[in-house]
Amino acid sequence: MSDKYQGFVSTPIGRLLVKNLGLPDPARLERYAEGAPLVDGTVLVGGTGRLAESLPGLLDLLGIAATTTAGEGQRFKGLVFDATGLTSSADLVALRDFFTPLLRSLESCPRVVVLGTPPEQVSGAERVAQRALEGFTRSLGKEIGRGGTVQLVYVAEGAETGVTSTLGFLLSPKSAYVSGQVVRIGAHGEAAVPEVTDWTRPLAGKVALVTGASRGIGEAIARVLHRDGATVVGVDVPQAASDLQSLMKVLDGDWLTLDITAPDAPQRIAHHLQEKHGGVDVVVHNAGITRDRKLANMAPSEKGDRWEQVLAVNLTAPELITRELLDRKVLNPGASVVGVASIAGIAGNVGQTNYAASKAGVIGLVDSLADELSDGITINAVAPGFIITQMTAAVPFATREVGQRLNAMAQGGLPVDVAETIAWYANPASRLVNGNVMRVCGQMMLGA
Ligand code: NAD
Repeated sequence: MSDKYQGFVSTPIGRLLVKNLGLPDPARLERYAEGAPLVDGTVLVGGTGRLAESLPGLLDLLGIAATTTAGEGQRFKGLVFDATGLTSSADLVALRDFFTPLLRSLESCPRVVVLGTPPEQVSGAERVAQRALEGFTRSLGKEIGRGGTVQLVYVAEGAETGVTSTLGFLLSPKSAYVSGQVVRIGAHGEAAVPEVTDWTRPLAGKVALVTGASRGIGEAIARVLHRDGATVVGVDVPQAASDLQSLMKVLDGDWLTLDITAPDAPQRIAHHLQEKHGGVDVVVHNAGITRDRKLANMAPSEKGDRWEQVLAVNLTAPELITRELLDRKVLNPGASVVGVASIAGIAGNVGQTNYAASKAGVIGLVDSLADELSDGITINAVAPGFIITQMTAAVPFATREVGQRLNAMAQGGLPVDVAETIAWYANPASRLVNGNVMRVCGQMMLGA
């Protein structure tokens, strides 16, 4: 399940054709390797707002080398600009003044993060200026090239202490396939942010439930959460029992084989987590299926009901399981619930009315619960774009090729890219990251 085109363009003849025919030229994305420093290079911090002063200290906590001045000829791996001090459209020129001289002195796969104030928290000219940041970051994301990423992080007043884990994720290769995104920190109220003593194992002592864990994206999620210190409880259907057990043995984890749509599945999961683990800290609703047909051909048949099956696995099961875990207080204080949506649920897709409805519904679940949750429990979602797995291997060749190239990085993502995003949500220091939907799509052109 590799990207054959990317392999071809790295050959001498491939390079020649790319150059002469103007074909897409995907950069080799850097990805995080366990034990490596979070950022391999220096991050330049600029801007004047309520965050600028504390930024070098926060980056230092993460072991990231930061500076506030650019030396002659110095190259940077990342740029962070505090734009919370911009209060009118005239001030926006500060973005040009900061970034333009620096863009040619960036290393490969550079990271850019702009920090702002949520526009809905301010008014008048300041609201205009803060809203303008979104167009700036999304466009720079499409310009930056060489595997670079650009994000906007809106930090609510009073939520400044909640930004560290997000900077660690967005400045590191963990966010390799995430670009052009807008994150909101503290949008659903304040809560004390726990201190993380070991940033390489923020989930030490935590229990994480991952559905659909035997393969694909679920397997990658299980591996990354285990790397970050969690005890993983993998769930999958009985047919996948052998793969699930082998993986969980490697990860020193635990498993439960069941169909998440079974009427007693929420109770069985809740009971298992309560009895064997005393509760759960991370719940990832990853299991999902596609049963594609145009709506005109979606009527139920003897072979089954494509509409009902997809809605049951992708949406109703996560709703019922989350409700059961909440009602029985199996979710520990500070727990993180993560839904796996899809770009299809944002942009829509031919032949996927059922799937897109289910995945948009996952976003609805995040919206509906983010305000309701208490005890520091959060809910967020990822919306993967084209991720290379068995699910996308089933997509016809031509559609798959187009699907992979139609993004700012001209390539498909890897399961680990989705997993790293989920690990960021799951980090206890992400307590103020609530109600977000992060696209992991290489800044796909669809449904931006
Ligand atoms: P996959 O088909 O490789 O894996 C899905 C896993 O879920 C399998 O192990 C399967 O056995 C399990 N599962 C399915 N139905 C189940 C049920 N009723 N009970 C328990 N387990 C069940 O798929 P993937 O590509 O790894 O996708 C994982 C998630 O990511 C899905 O929710 C999918 O919709 C979403 N997603 C994937 C992509 C992509 O490009 N691959 C894009 C967007 C969203």
